[in-house]
Amino acid sequence: MSKNELEKLVSLQDLDLMIGEAKEVEKLGFNMNGYDELIKAREKLAQDIPKPLLARYERLRAKLKRAVVPVKDDICLGCFLRQPTSRGSRGREESLIFTCESCGRILYWLD
Ligand SMILES: [Zn+2]
Repeated sequence: MSKNELEKLVSLQDLDLMIGEAKEVEKLGFNMNGYDELIKAREKLAQDIPKPLLARYERLRAKLKRAVVPVKDDICLGCFLRQPTSRGSRGREESLIFTCESCGRILYWLD
């Protein structure tokens, strides 16, 4: 996975979280301006993400609020399981996609 794809996936997740919040706001009876814009931006971004990666993300999102989580000091911030240090360097330098063996989330490394 290229760095670019990872960034897109993180942006997609941001949009999904915003869409989720907008739905909550509407449930409270407030009028949500810009909701359609969020949906449109989401659709456009999703087209730029490779299908298998997108499918993986969607599967995770069906059960988890955040499907893509950062790793800091070799710790998955989704479930706090320590990741092998070797994964960190490969995840950073080769931009390989790794999922946490404990929680299954897609990982990205914070510098
Ligand atoms: Zn995890």
